[in-house]
Amino acid sequence: MLLRFRELLHLHIDADLSTTSASAVVEERYWSLRRHVPIVYLLGLVNLSAMEIATSGRVTFGPNLPTFIAACGLLRLVHWFGEGRTVPHAIMIKRMRQTVWFAAIVCAAVCARCLYLLHVGDAASHMAVMLFGGLTAIGVAYGLTALPSAGRIPLVLIIVPISIAALLSREPHFAGAAFGLVVVAALTMRLLNSHSRHFTDVILSRSRIAYEQEKVEHAHQEAVVAATTDFLTGLPNRRAFVAALESAAGGRAFAVAILDLDRFKSVNDTFGHAAGDQLLDQVAARLLHVIGNRGMVARLGGDEFGILIHDVPRTRSAHLLGREILDGVNGPVHLHGRQLVISACCGLAVARSGEAKSPSRLMADADLALYQAKENASEKMAVFELRMEAPRRRRTEIEGALLAPGVHDNFAIVFQPIFELKTGRVLAHEALARWTDPVLGSISPAEFVPIAEHLNLIDDLNSRLMALAFERARRWRKDVKLAFNLSALQLCSRNSARAVLRALRDSGFGPERLQVEVTETALLADFERARENLTELRKAGATIVLDDFGAGYASIGYLRELHFDQIKLDGGLVTAAQHSLDGKRLLRAVVGLCEALGVVTVAEHVESDELLRLVRDLGCDAGQGFWLMRPVPAEQLDELSTMPSVVIRPKEMRRRAA
Ligand code: C2E
Ligand code: CA
Ligand code: CA
Repeated sequence: MLLRFRELLHLHIDADLSTTSASAVVEERYWSLRRHVPIVYLLGLVNLSAMEIATSGRVTFGPNLPTFIAACGLLRLVHWFGEGRTVPHAIMIKRMRQTVWFAAIVCAAVCARCLYLLHVGDAASHMAVMLFGGLTAIGVAYGLTALPSAGRIPLVLIIVPISIAALLSREPHFAGAAFGLVVVAALTMRLLNSHSRHFTDVILSRSRIAYEQEKVEHAHQEAVVAATTDFLTGLPNRRAFVAALESAAGGRAFAVAILDLDRFKSVNDTFGHAAGDQLLDQVAARLLHVIGNRGMVARLGGDEFGILIHDVPRTRSAHLLGREILDGVNGPVHLHGRQLVISACCGLAVARSGEAKSPSRLMADADLALYQAKENASEKMAVFELRMEAPRRRRTEIEGALLAPGVHDNFAIVFQPIFELKTGRVLAHEALARWTDPVLGSISPAEFVPIAEHLNLIDDLNSRLMALAFERARRWRKDVKLAFNLSALQLCSRNSARAVLRALRDSGFGPERLQVEVTETALLADFERARENLTELRKAGATIVLDDFGAGYASIGYLRELHFDQIKLDGGLVTAAQHSLDGKRLLRAVVGLCEALGVVTVAEHVESDELLRLVRDLGCDAGQGFWLMRPVPAEQLDELSTMPSVVIRPKEMRRRAA
């Protein structure tokens, strides 16, 4: 029988808990019960004590109902509150089952006491039993709303028996009260059920919201991971690396290393991108192995890796670390059945303890060191030192000066003549930009032109210089041309030929008097675009000159693909002919090649009489250099360029150069 009752109870409570198996419901019911059960006991104690006083005129401490209730209450208090704040679910469920049992036992005791009092007492005490018994049952039911299977018990076990007893007493007023009590119990039961449903719904929707929030949070975390991870190697990416540097700044000393693989491009070109990817993966694994838990390894992009290493206090330790990194990375690797040897360069920078250098600054330092490491073929590793900063500082100063208002007023043009070597006649004057900054002094075009290109200022600057040069050149004799240098950016940007031709038109200087000088490196920036621009200029009548031939790759391919009217033999190639037999042979061969192509040759950097004779003997058509004439301001040139058909003999040239 007991077993049956137990089963019945379990079924009930399981129905309460399994309306959802969600643990949130179990938790909420448990914590609500834990809060309310002491109040329920207190309520029962007070009510039943009042019932004792109303029926027998007193309440004593002894073997009676209030003492039993107080004992049960104390037992429950000790039991529940001894459990602390973290209670496993299994214990919660156990406590709830116990609550049902306790409710059944206590209510059965209350019922027995009420029935006894109804049996022995007078009409007044019968009413007191009805009142306090009913109040107790409804109060307890209300207190246990979090667990309806327990909440229903007092209604069934107290109100129903005393109401039946009252009805059986056949006293009309008594029966009427019993009827009212039964109706109140039925309504309370209904409220209990609907409250329980509502309770479950609220908790469920709350846990659903929490679940959705968790999902959103999870998705957010995934997005963060995706945004900070390099998908190829699985390493943190540049963004994550910069964030790590940011949080390390200002704390303990650490080192930043940038590693760059040698010949990665050729691995990609020769073995394909899949092999390149595999190589990067292997490098990532090697770096992780070397660094372990001492810091962070990230892929910054391409074949560049960034490494942050904690607790590297000195440059010397950074040197050892750099060596360790290279030793860990360098070595043979198997790719698609072939063996390759990985080698890399590494630049490091140290952030001292408490030093709050920005990530971009630290990475720029490590980059500078990397640049030095590439120069240093034996070590292939360098740690940043302040002296490396000088070129960067200079560049920043030049950038600042170029961006200053009114900078164009400090620009001027000088001209250096190009002489025909056989006759000594002036063929052209090359326009060379001069910039004298009030603070930095004179700055060479070789230095400022690339910086102006980088800052996108070259177009503006060049169009001003070109206008100045065209204006001057208009005054020269008609057979003297103007040679003007085009920068890489100008040569390879869309419509640059059209802009030059427009400037020529505006100044009234004929395109057939313009010689455009371009270098091989400038052509390399975008060969097709360069070809388009040069073809257009050539069509308009301009002479196209390949400048500094022999300084770079001296590719014969360009000579075939682009038709040059003149080739300027680089100063290095020319002066080398004076210093060695091989140099002389090489220059002779190059001049011979140009002759065969029918291109006019101009020897640059003719710095001595001896060199002048040498290049003339080797067959160069024209010459330019300090020995013949230094670059001079336009005013000094006017006289020379306006004299009709003046031919300057070498002797005279020398005199002028002096
Ligand atoms: P480049 O076109 O090769 O110009 C010749 C350079 O050699 C000039 O230097 C000139 O002063 C120098 N030079 C001339 N004769 C001798 C000599 O006998 N010995 C030595 N050692 N050097 C000699 P500069 O003026 O400093 O120009 C350097 C480079 O800057 C030029 O090389 C040219 O590529 C570029 N450049 C100059 N002016 C301009 C310009 O207005 N626009 C552009 N885009 N580039 C310019
Ligand atoms: Ca030139
Ligand atoms: Ca040159």
